[in-house]
Amino acid sequence: MTTEILDVIVIGAGAAGLTAAYDIHHDTSFTYKILEASDVIGGRLQKLEGFADFPIDIGGEWIHVPPSILDEIYNDPNENPTDTIETVQYIQTYEEWEDEEWNTYDLWNTDYKFKNYTWFDFFNDWMAPGLDVELNCTVDAIDWSSTPVQLSCENGKQWAAKHVIVTSSVKVLQDHDLGFSPSLPQDTQEAIDEHYMLPGLKVFMKFQRRFYKEAFTFVEDHEDNEIPESDKYYYAATFGQDSNDNVLGMFAAGEPAEFFIGMTDNQIIGNLLEQLDDAYDGAASNNFIEGFVQDWTNSTFVKGVYTYLNDDWDSLGSIPTMRQPLKDRVFLAGEAVPADNYEWGFAHEAALSGRFAAERVVELLDD
Ligand SMILES: Cc1cc2nc3c(=O)[nH]c(=O)nc-3n(C[C@H](O)[C@H](O)[C@H](O)COP(=O)(O)OP(=O)(O)OC[C@H]3O[C@@H](n4cnc5c(N)ncnc54)[C@H](O)[C@@H]3O)c2cc1C
Repeated sequence: MTTEILDVIVIGAGAAGLTAAYDIHHDTSFTYKILEASDVIGGRLQKLEGFADFPIDIGGEWIHVPPSILDEIYNDPNENPTDTIETVQYIQTYEEWEDEEWNTYDLWNTDYKFKNYTWFDFFNDWMAPGLDVELNCTVDAIDWSSTPVQLSCENGKQWAAKHVIVTSSVKVLQDHDLGFSPSLPQDTQEAIDEHYMLPGLKVFMKFQRRFYKEAFTFVEDHEDNEIPESDKYYYAATFGQDSNDNVLGMFAAGEPAEFFIGMTDNQIIGNLLEQLDDAYDGAASNNFIEGFVQDWTNSTFVKGVYTYLNDDWDSLGSIPTMRQPLKDRVFLAGEAVPADNYEWGFAHEAALSGRFAAERVVELLDD
């Protein structure tokens, strides 16, 4: 049986993969397909429905730049998503509980949130329609020794393409899940291995009444506080939403998230309620209705929240190496490979990195 040779295969239907495919689909007549391991699109952008009276982002949630970035990603001179998508500017401060009292601190930048909408909705409603996505297709072998590149999925399906854009997370690449043959060049693999994929989770807790502050954190001691990106904070998930519910979110990444590895959902929620009770006089346990835990550390196809590279903010570190096309056949993209600066980790940067990879592939196909 001969396999059709596609112009482009995109691995992964997260922000990066969907944006790469969107550009190829809308701006060219080249053939392409997205191969996605899971049974849904979105990758680290997913939403929880039915838990509260508004949709909840259980992955990426904030828009860390002005919302016009959504128009830039959609990139259609005739239509702007922000004409219909509502967003709200986030607060500028948070509070910290230390030695039995609250102190107020500035938040580090200006953020926005979707109103009764999510990052997942943006990609699902605006970017994904019409795209050719093959779900449940976990790529486990990529022979890029010659053109076309030959790929196969765990379910036995075979594919061939002139160019492959890989958007899997850095941890998936570090664990060699994609089965590159030959192995990736040493400098590329070293650049990949230089990243640290932060473990992380999100928890949402519904309460009978609102007893908590808008955004807050606790001073905590962690034994091995070596990961500067470590983070753990609570926030009213209802901020800016049309909602009658009281939903408190908790996000942890890095060291504080490692603490929860191996715990059951009930143990995690019990631990958080105990911490909240301490600051709020038992109000958390007394008003708790139900909770939801999204564990990203153990998610099979992502394995963490986002990458941490190094704290030398003037250096792009290993990113330029990761951006180098491999024999013009394989292109790495995604959250850890930002297109033109060192703002990795964000949903919008992931999207733009997919666009950057698609541009380079289209240039080669045009030649
Ligand atoms: C809890 C959490 C909170 C966050 N908060 C924010 C935030 O507030 N604001 C923000 O801007 N960003 C946030 N982020 C980061 C943001 O979500 C990510 O940077 C972005 O979604 C990454 O997109 P991506 O396309 O690069 O990767 P992914 O979304 O990981 O997409 C990669 C895709 O590849 C698929 N895949 C993996 N292996 C294979 C394989 N072998 N075969 C086929 N497919 C495969 C995966 O299933 C996945 O769908 C957060 C992330 C998390 C997890």
